[in-house]
Amino acid sequence: MVYQSTRNNQVIATAAEAIATGISAEGGLFVPSEFPPMTLSEIAELAPLSYNGRAKVILSKFLTDFSKEELSDCVDSAYTVEKFGADPTPVVTLEDGEHILELWHGPTCAFKDMALQILPHLMRVSVAKKVPGKEIVILVATSGDTGKAALEGFKDAPHTRILVFYPENGVSPMQKLQMTTQEGENVAVCAIRGNFDDAQTGVKTIFTDPAVKGKLAEHDMLFSSANSINWGRLVPQIVYYFSAYADLLKEGKVKVGDPINVVVPTGNFGNILAAYYANKMGLPVNKFICASNSNNVLTDFFKTGEYDRRREFYATTSPSMDILISSNLERLLYDLTGCDDQAVSGMMNELKENGHYRVPDAVKKRLQAQFVGGFSTDDEVAETIRDTFENRGYLLDTHTAVAVRVYENYRKETGDKTPTVIASTANPYKFSASVLSALGADVTGADEFEKVALLQQHTGVQAPASLLSLKEKKVRFPQVCDREGQQAVVYEMLKIED
Ligand SMILES: *Cc1c(COP(=O)(O)O)cnc(C)c1O
Repeated sequence: MVYQSTRNNQVIATAAEAIATGISAEGGLFVPSEFPPMTLSEIAELAPLSYNGRAKVILSKFLTDFSKEELSDCVDSAYTVEKFGADPTPVVTLEDGEHILELWHGPTCAFKDMALQILPHLMRVSVAKKVPGKEIVILVATSGDTGKAALEGFKDAPHTRILVFYPENGVSPMQKLQMTTQEGENVAVCAIRGNFDDAQTGVKTIFTDPAVKGKLAEHDMLFSSANSINWGRLVPQIVYYFSAYADLLKEGKVKVGDPINVVVPTGNFGNILAAYYANKMGLPVNKFICASNSNNVLTDFFKTGEYDRRREFYATTSPSMDILISSNLERLLYDLTGCDDQAVSGMMNELKENGHYRVPDAVKKRLQAQFVGGFSTDDEVAETIRDTFENRGYLLDTHTAVAVRVYENYRKETGDKTPTVIASTANPYKFSASVLSALGADVTGADEFEKVALLQQHTGVQAPASLLSLKEKKVRFPQVCDREGQQAVVYEMLKIED
C-alpha cells in the first residue's frame, strides 16, 4: 500500500512517510493509491469485536508498513477505558432508523479525540522508521476542538513539540479555557487576530516555506501536522463508520449489505471524507449528507459544482464548523477526477488566486450521485436543540444539531427512509451558553462554570469531569499575535533565532 500526492501523483510515500511529514512538499495531500476491500462477510465479522479489535482490522489494511505488534500497541495505548469509557463510540437510537453516533467520549469531549489520541502513537512509530532522531514540531491551526485535542494527545510526547494557533474571537469560552490552561512541557498556545482561515493559511505558509524548513533542519527539527490534512488524522476516522455499522448489525437494526445514510456536521471535510473512504472499501452507504452552518460554501458547491469562498464569514454557534476553505475536499476531488493531479492542482490554484473554482460536469454528476448538501442557521439549530430535548429526551450540542436539522429537512424533502447514522461531534457542555439559550434559559451574568451548573440543573444530563476540572486550572498561555506575527511566535517557542 502506497500513498500519492493529490497535486503530483509521481510523489509516492509509505504510510509512515505520509504520517511523519503530514503534507507533500509541493502542497498536495497524501491519499491511498487504492482502497483495500472489506467484503460483506468481513464487515459482519466486525460485529462481535470490541472497538479496538475493529480498529486493528481496518487500520492494518492501510498501514501496511506497521507491524502487527506496532499497530496493536498504538490502538491499545490510544483507546483506553480510562480515556474513553467502556465503549468509545456508542450508537444511540433517537427513533426508528435515526441513529446518533456519539464520537465525543474522549478526554476533550470532541470527536477529534478519536484521531488525535492515536495520532501521536502513529507518529512515534513513523518517525522511528523514517526520520529517527528528529524532533517533530506539530503546528496546528484550530477552530476550537482540534487545538485542545491535539494538545492533549501530544502533551509530553517524547521528541515532539506542539504549537497551536486559534482565532481570538472564534472559539467558545470553554474551548479557549481548555487550550489556555493546557499542561505539558512541550506545548504552547497563541491566539491570532483573525479568523480560522487566517490561522490555517498562516500555518500552511510557515509549513511550506523552504527558509523556515531549513532553519528547523539546522536544529534537527521537522514540521509535521496534526490537522486533518495528515493521513494519520483521517485513517482512524474510517474505523468508526464501520464500527457504527457493526453495532447496528449486532442490534439487528440493519442486515448485512443494507445501505445506510451518513450525516456529518462538516467543517474541513475530514470526517465526511472518512465515511466516503469507508464506502470505497465496501461499507454500504446510500447518501452522504454534508451538513453546514451559515458558512454554507459546501451546500452551494454540491448544488452548483462551483466552490466559491468569496462570501461573508459568519461566527456561528457551531464555531468548529466556521470554515470557508475545506481542505479535505481536495482529496475527494482527486478521487472523483480519476486521480487527475493536474486538474486538482489547477482547481486549488484557482481557489488560492481567485477564491473560487468550478468542477467539470462529469465530476459534478458523480458528486451529486452520492452527496447531498444542506445547511442550518443558528435559529434553526436552537429550535432543533429544544425540540430534540423536549420531545425526544436527547441533548444535542450545536454542531450535531446542525446535522440533525439538515437530515430532517432531507427526509421531509425526499421521503428517504434508509437507516441513518448522524455523527455527533461534541459534548453539549462544550457549548453550554448556546445550548442553554436554545432551551430558553436566561444566562445573563453567569460565568462559564455557572452555565455548566445551570445546564445540568435544567437537563439532568451529567457534565463531564474533564470540563468541570478546568475551573481550578490556571491560564498558562494568554498570548495574542497578529496574522503576520505567527512565524515569529513559532521561532520563539522553539527558541530559534530568526
Ligand atoms: C472539527 C469539528 C467538526 C468538523 O469536522 P471536519 O472533519 O473538519 O469536517 C464538526 N463538529 C465539531 C464539534 C468539530 O470539532
